[in-house]
Amino acid sequence: MEMVRPRHVPHRTCVVCKKRAPKRELVRVVASGGRVSLDPSGRASGRGAYVCRDDEGGEARAMRASLARALRTEVADGDWKDLKESLGVMAGTGQSE
Ligand SMILES: [Zn+2]
Repeated sequence: MEMVRPRHVPHRTCVVCKKRAPKRELVRVVASGGRVSLDPSGRASGRGAYVCRDDEGGEARAMRASLARALRTEVADGDWKDLKESLGVMAGTGQSE
């Protein structure tokens, strides 16, 4: 006989707008080895923070500051550029070029 287990949907809080959402609707950003980068797998080691997929367009500067605070590290210019590009792509608003 099989056990029917209730489906648990993990929620996380976006560090930018403080909205709680199912983990799959957020994007994990991880700080590791002095670098800050997107963690598409959600399983990279390091200190992680979650952001909404659709925050990027609005308040990019607020987002950078929120990430820096949540990750307790600076987000370097190069890392931030990559991050924004990755988020833009994931949100479907970025150009693939
Ligand atoms: Zn958000």
